[in-house]
Amino acid sequence: MKKIVILGGGFGGLYVATELEKCLAADRDVEVTLVNRENFFLFTPMLHEVAASDLDLSNIVNPVRKLLRRVHFFAADVEAADVVRKKVTVSHGTDHHHHELDYDYLVIALGSITNFFNLPGLEERALTMKSLGDAIHLRNRLIAFLEEADTECASEVRQPLMTFVVAGGGFAGVETIAGINDFVREALKFYPNLSRDVVRMVLVHPGQVILPELGEKLGSYAQKKLAARGVEIRVNTKVTGVSDAAVELSDGTMIRAKTLVWTAGTSPNMLLAKLPCKKDRGRLHVNEYLEVTDWPGVWALGDCANVPDLTTGQYCPPTAQHALREGKVVAQNIAAEIRGGKKKAFSFATIGQLAAIGRRTGVARILGVNFSGFIAWFLWRTIYLSKLPRFEKKLRVALDWTLDLLFTKDLVQFETFRARTVSHEETAFMEELTGVEVQPRTKASVA
Ligand SMILES: Cc1cc2nc3c(=O)[nH]c(=O)nc-3n(C[C@H](O)[C@H](O)[C@H](O)COP(=O)(O)OP(=O)(O)OC[C@H]3O[C@@H](n4cnc5c(N)ncnc54)[C@H](O)[C@@H]3O)c2cc1C
Repeated sequence: MKKIVILGGGFGGLYVATELEKCLAADRDVEVTLVNRENFFLFTPMLHEVAASDLDLSNIVNPVRKLLRRVHFFAADVEAADVVRKKVTVSHGTDHHHHELDYDYLVIALGSITNFFNLPGLEERALTMKSLGDAIHLRNRLIAFLEEADTECASEVRQPLMTFVVAGGGFAGVETIAGINDFVREALKFYPNLSRDVVRMVLVHPGQVILPELGEKLGSYAQKKLAARGVEIRVNTKVTGVSDAAVELSDGTMIRAKTLVWTAGTSPNMLLAKLPCKKDRGRLHVNEYLEVTDWPGVWALGDCANVPDLTTGQYCPPTAQHALREGKVVAQNIAAEIRGGKKKAFSFATIGQLAAIGRRTGVARILGVNFSGFIAWFLWRTIYLSKLPRFEKKLRVALDWTLDLLFTKDLVQFETFRARTVSHEETAFMEELTGVEVQPRTKASVA
C-alpha cells in the first residue's frame, strides 16, 4: 500500500486530491489522506461578499467530504512534518490529542498566514480577511458599530465608530473596502441618527496606484470610481500602528477609527520554518515538477511554495488560479512516480485577473485586454461563479445575487454565544417566591 498525505485543503491541496481520485481511480493499493483544519473548502475570491452581506456565509464554502469520494479526509491541525522519518503529526478532537501519519508521498499545501510585521497594536486590534471567520467577524463588527453609533449616548464616539480603515490596495483590500462601503452606506437608511457625512472609509496603499497587478490605467479607474463613492484613498502611505483610539499612518496622520482591516502582508505558513528543506523568503523551493528540492517524495505548491514560472523566468504569483493548476500537475506527477510514467513540468501563464469594486462595476485584464465598469463586473461574477465548486453552491450564490436585485442587504448579526441560562440565585429566588421547587425542565424553559 502506497500512502499519500496531503496537508491543506485549500485551492492547492483540494485539487491535488480531486485529480488523484481521477488518476489513481483504478489503483486500489494507493491510500490518499487529506488533512485540513476546517472541514470545508473556502472559495476566497468571494470572501468580501460575505463581509459585505452580499452572500450568505455558507454559500462560499463546500464540505470537503462532499467533494471527495475515495480520498480519506481528516479534519485536524497539522502540528509538524518530519520529512526524515516520513511522518506527520496532527492533533484533533476537543482534547487536541495527537496522531502520527506515515507517508510515502507528502504534499504540502498549507497556504500563507497574515503578517503584521510587528507593527504596534496590529496583532491585538486589526481585523484580517483570510478565513470565513474573518469575513463573519468583519460583518458583525460593521453591524455592531452601526447599532452603537446610532444611539444618542454614542455622539462622542460616533465618528471613530463609523470610520473604517483598510490597509493594502491589492485585490483583497480593494474588494473589501468597496464591499463594506456599499454595505454601510446602504444600511444608513435604517439608522435614523446616522447621516452620510459621518461615514468615513479610508484605503491606505503604499504604492502610487491601487491594484498594481492590473496596471496603472485600471488602477486609476478603480481609484476614481471608489473616490466618487466616498472612499478616501491614501496612496504612497503605510499604516504604522493602531491603538484603541486611532490608526497611525506613515505621513504622521492619526485617523480616529475603531476598525482597521489589514490585508497588507502575508507570510508562508509557520510550519515550514521547521522543515530542513531549502526555502526562498520562507516559501519552499520546488523544481519545475513541484517536487521540493533535495527531498524526493515531498511536493509543495500554492502560496507556501516558490514555483518557478517557466513562461516568465520568475516565480508564479500566489493566486488561486495558479494553486489549483499546480494541484493537478502534482497529482499527475505523483501518479507517474507510482506507475513509472514521465513527470510533467508545471507551465501556466496567467489568463486574467479581475476585481469587483462595488455597485456593479469592476476592473479586469483578460489575455492582455483591459475591461472596466459593468462588463468587468459581469465577467467577474460569471467567471467566479463558474469556478465555484458544486452545482448546489453555484445555484445558491446565483439565487442570492438575484434576490439582491429585489431586497436590501441583510443586517442580522451572526452571534455564536450560548443562550442565557438560569443562575443559582435566580432559581433560589423563584423557589422562594413561589414556594415550589424549580424542576430542571422549567429551568430550561425560563432560560
Ligand atoms: C480575500 C482573498 C481574496 C482572494 N481573491 C483571489 C482571486 O480573486 N483570485 C485568485 O486567483 N486568488 C485570490 N486569492 C488568493 C488565493 O486565495 C490563494 O492564492 C490560494 O488560496 C492559495 O491556495 P493554497 O492552497 O496555497 O492555500 P489556501 O487556499 O489558503 O489553503 C491552505 C489550507 O491549509 C489549511 N491549513 C493551514 N495551516 C494548517 C494547519 N496547521 N493544519 C491544518 N490545516 C491547515 C488552511 O485551513 C487552508 O484550508 C485571494 C485570497 C484572499 C485571502
